[in-house]
Amino acid sequence: MSTTLWIKKPLSIFTANQQDAGNGIVIKDGLIVELVANNSEPVHNIDNIFDANQHVLLPGLINTHHHLYQTLTRALPAALNKRLFPWLQALYPVWAKLQPDMLHAATELGLSELLLSGCTTVADHHYLFPEALTEAIDIQVSAAKLIGNRVMLTRGSMSLGQDDGGLPPQSTVQSDAIILDDCQRVINQFHQKGEGAMVQLALAPCSPFSVTTDLMKETANLARANDVRLHTHLAETEDENSFCLKAFGLRPLDYLESVGWLSSDVWLAHGIHFNDEEVKRLGQAKTGIAHCPSSNMILASGICRTKELQAAGSPVGLAVDGSASNDGSNMIQEVRQALMINRLRYQADQVTHLDALFWATKGSAQVLGRDDIGELAVGKQADLALFKLDELRFSGSHDPLAALILCGAHQADCVMVAGQWKVKSGLLIDHDINDMQARHSEAAANLIL
Ligand SMILES: [Zn+2]
Repeated sequence: MSTTLWIKKPLSIFTANQQDAGNGIVIKDGLIVELVANNSEPVHNIDNIFDANQHVLLPGLINTHHHLYQTLTRALPAALNKRLFPWLQALYPVWAKLQPDMLHAATELGLSELLLSGCTTVADHHYLFPEALTEAIDIQVSAAKLIGNRVMLTRGSMSLGQDDGGLPPQSTVQSDAIILDDCQRVINQFHQKGEGAMVQLALAPCSPFSVTTDLMKETANLARANDVRLHTHLAETEDENSFCLKAFGLRPLDYLESVGWLSSDVWLAHGIHFNDEEVKRLGQAKTGIAHCPSSNMILASGICRTKELQAAGSPVGLAVDGSASNDGSNMIQEVRQALMINRLRYQADQVTHLDALFWATKGSAQVLGRDDIGELAVGKQADLALFKLDELRFSGSHDPLAALILCGAHQADCVMVAGQWKVKSGLLIDHDINDMQARHSEAAANLIL
C-alpha cells in the first residue's frame, strides 16, 4: 500500500519555478503530488511527516557531464599545471590501463560522492574502451544500480589514435564498425524511455576531432533512429579553434553543423569559445550546454557565455566534469563555483545564486531532455536534496537559500531519489563507504603502477 509523506515547512525552499511551496511538498508513489503553499495545510491525507524546519529544500541536483573513471587520477603529478592538450597527453597512457574492477570502483565512488552532495541524476561521458574494457557501459550500469542515482550513461568513442594523428594511444581507440555495433547493443540492453527512467543512454564521441567524420554522421543517424540524445565536448579552448581551422578549414561549430549535430537533441560539454553569431545559431537550434566552472578554471580554458546562450534559446545546465580536472565531484560546491565564475563575466546584479541553482536543477534537466525532474512541481519525480545550515560556516547567516551557496555548503543532510531516501544524516543509507573507499584507493594505486 502506498503512503504519503509530507516534507513539512522547510526553513527555505527553491522550487526552480514560480510556485509557492512554502509549507512543503507531499510525496506519494515516488512522485510529488502536492505543493503546500505558505500558511496552508495539505489536501492529501498524510501518513508520515518529515519536519524540515532546519532544512533548505532543493530539487535533486543534476550533473550533466562527468568522466567518473577519472576519480582514479585526481591530482596526478604528471598532469598538474598543464593546458588541455598536454594534460590529455599526460593522462591517456595511464587511462589506457583501466581495468573492469577499477571502473566499477570509480563509478560507485563518484556516484556516491555526488549523491552525498545532493546530486540525484548524473550524466557520465565514458569514451575509453581498451581491450579489457569493451563492456564499460555494462559495468557502469551495474554500479549505478547499486548506488541508486538516476544516470544518463553516454557511450563515448574514439576512432582516431596516434597512428592517424590523434592524441589518444592506439590501444584506446576502436574501429567505427565496432563502436556503432556496441552503441546499438547498449541502447537495446539498457536505455529506458519515458518518465521516471533510472538508466538512460546517449551516444557521445569524445570530441569531433577524436573520431572520423563518418563516425560523427553515423552516430547521429543511429541516435536518431533510436530516439536517444547526442553528446560531445566542444569549444573548450582557443587551441581547439586553431586545431580545427587547420584540420578542417572550419571553426568547431561549423564542423559540428556540417556533420548534422547542430540540433536540439545534442548537448555540448563546456561550450566556451563561441562568437556572437555562433551563440545565435546554437540558441536557434536549442542545442544544450553543460557548463563546467571548476574544470574551466583548473585548465584555464575560459568562461562560458551562459547568459547570452540562455537568452539565445540554448538550455544551460551545470556539471562537475571529470575528476582529473576538478578534482572533486561535488555538485553543491559547483553551484557556488558557477556563481563565482559568472560574476567575472557579468555584473553582480546580472547573475545571482538563484541563476546558479536554476542551472543545477531545471536547466540541467532541460539539457538532458527531461521534463520529469529538476523542479518541485506536481507530477514531477520525487528527487530531493535537503541541507542543514548547522556548520560553523553558516553561523551568522540570514537568508538561508543565499547562505547555502555563499557560505559554501558541501554536504547534503538527506537525499531522496524517486521517493526513496538514499542519504540520511549525511550518510549513504545502503552502503559501507569505508569499504568502497578502500577498494577505490587500491584501484587508483594499481592504475599508476
Ligand atoms: Zn569532459
